Amino acid sequence: MLTAATGMDAMAHCIETFCAPSVNPPAEVIALDGLRRASANIEIATRDGTNRQARWEMMMAAMEGAMAFQKGLGAVHALSHPMGALPGRPLHHGTLNAVLLPAVLEFNAPVLEGKKATLNAGLGLAADADPAAHIRTLNSRLGLPAGLGAMGVTRADFGAVADAALKDHCHQTNPRLASRDDYLAMLDASF
Ligand SMILES: [Zn+2]
Repeated sequence: MLTAATGMDAMAHCIETFCAPSVNPPAEVIALDGLRRASANIEIATRDGTNRQARWEMMMAAMEGAMAFQKGLGAVHALSHPMGALPGRPLHHGTLNAVLLPAVLEFNAPVLEGKKATLNAGLGLAADADPAAHIRTLNSRLGLPAGLGAMGVTRADFGAVADAALKDHCHQTNPRLASRDDYLAMLDASF
């Protein structure tokens, strides 16, 4: 079943794969194609589940994200993996990623200048647009939660989540290496 949250997970796979510093040009091209399809269709598919073309484009974006993410994911997934394992709170992986994406894009921005125009093109944005602001607006248009607090995460969870993020395999392939304090700041900005 297609939801806004699983669509945002596909977008997060495509964005993090494209941004990962590992050298894998074919994976980047596939991720960008998936990002372009998801960006153009996620609102249509969410609003109108009977639109078969939009659903097909989202299915293709999900497949392309999964084909490409062996290149590496990043801080969004390093943080969402431990949050998805918080005891007693079944938090949706895709919703977590949607909510975390803006703060991670802002953290990565200083090292992504060379990729920004291409990333923005995949998002359907002008070359100099702010991709983090765009994702925040998109999340709200899709009816996704405004922050981690609205999802049931508490500030008391932050320390353990940041510790676990440093050990997650996706930590190593974020384009800008994050410290524990950086992860705490990203969680705070996503709250
Ligand atoms: Zn994911």
